[in-house]
Amino acid sequence: MECNKRPWLNEIKSYKLPSKPPKILARLHMNENPFPPPPPVVEAAYKAAQQGNLYPDPERYWKLRELAAKYYGLPGPEWVLPTLGSDTALKLFFEVCTLASDATFPFPSFQAYPHLASVAGTKMIYSNLKIDGNKFVLDIEDFIDKKSSAAVIDSPNNPTGSLLVNEETLERVVNAFPVVLLDEAYGEFAPYDLVRKVEEFKNLVVTRTMSKAFALAGFRMGFFISNPEYVDNVSKLLMPYDIPSMTIEAAIAAFSYLDYVKDYINYVNNEKRKLYGKMEELGWKPFQSYTNFVLVKAVKDIVKMFKERGVMVRRVPLGDEWFRVSIGSPEEMRIFYETAEEIAKRL
Ligand code: PMP
Repeated sequence: MECNKRPWLNEIKSYKLPSKPPKILARLHMNENPFPPPPPVVEAAYKAAQQGNLYPDPERYWKLRELAAKYYGLPGPEWVLPTLGSDTALKLFFEVCTLASDATFPFPSFQAYPHLASVAGTKMIYSNLKIDGNKFVLDIEDFIDKKSSAAVIDSPNNPTGSLLVNEETLERVVNAFPVVLLDEAYGEFAPYDLVRKVEEFKNLVVTRTMSKAFALAGFRMGFFISNPEYVDNVSKLLMPYDIPSMTIEAAIAAFSYLDYVKDYINYVNNEKRKLYGKMEELGWKPFQSYTNFVLVKAVKDIVKMFKERGVMVRRVPLGDEWFRVSIGSPEEMRIFYETAEEIAKRL
């Protein structure tokens, strides 16, 4: 490369999405909401598309920030920066907060972190999660002992589904590191979230997304949330029209359909209860989850066996016998259980 002020980029592989089998019967590897957004949300995006010749309206952009602040219980729009999915919010954090330094992460955690960290020349330090019965837990003493210039924690955690911090342990983490990112992509599925703690801790950033509970993954709507000075500084890395008007309008409309979110969460919780039972019947071990997916310890080569049968589940970096399965539509769940039974019987 001729122009590259980040020589480390030459050593990093491009971020690849999982390959597709010839025929997908159940798409359970992306933690997507299997249902389309409410019709009025799609309608709002469609109306915006009809004015796609115009740049996004700054007033509507600030309306979105206001609604997001209200939804997350924050004092005002200056606390919440809209980004293209929370992936972009994470990217901003790595570019501004950990550039060419180091950061501590749980292991396992969201698989985009190593990519985003290495692009920002950030050294990753890991603290291994521990298994406690049917859940994964953060070893808080070990985590805090790492003493790096930043900490990143996804709670609920991907891929384990566990809640890793509460009010008390979060406070210990923000006191131990200069800056802390709490990724609450699955915050809606948990019994509590900690987003409002940004008012108490100036060195805390929280990222949230509308990809999961609100079913807007394709629209790409996420938020970088922190104190207004910090949000303003980070916002300088974005350009005024970075968020498309279709995404702004879909997100604004989605904040009016909180019953949709509630119904989806109830659906996920009911399906998870069924899934725990079915996995145990097969002799596989499901882990407690506060997300829209479940981590399961099954048998060797399990992801490959599902994939050969058109059922997409996700490999996790814990070993060949583990898989992560998203809660899909009723039809996808039926196919998943049928396939799981067939695999278990053949062994
Ligand atoms: N954080 C975590 C923990 C995730 O699992 C994901 C997506 N699966 C994201 C962030 C990013 O999601 P999005 O960019 O769609 O907001």
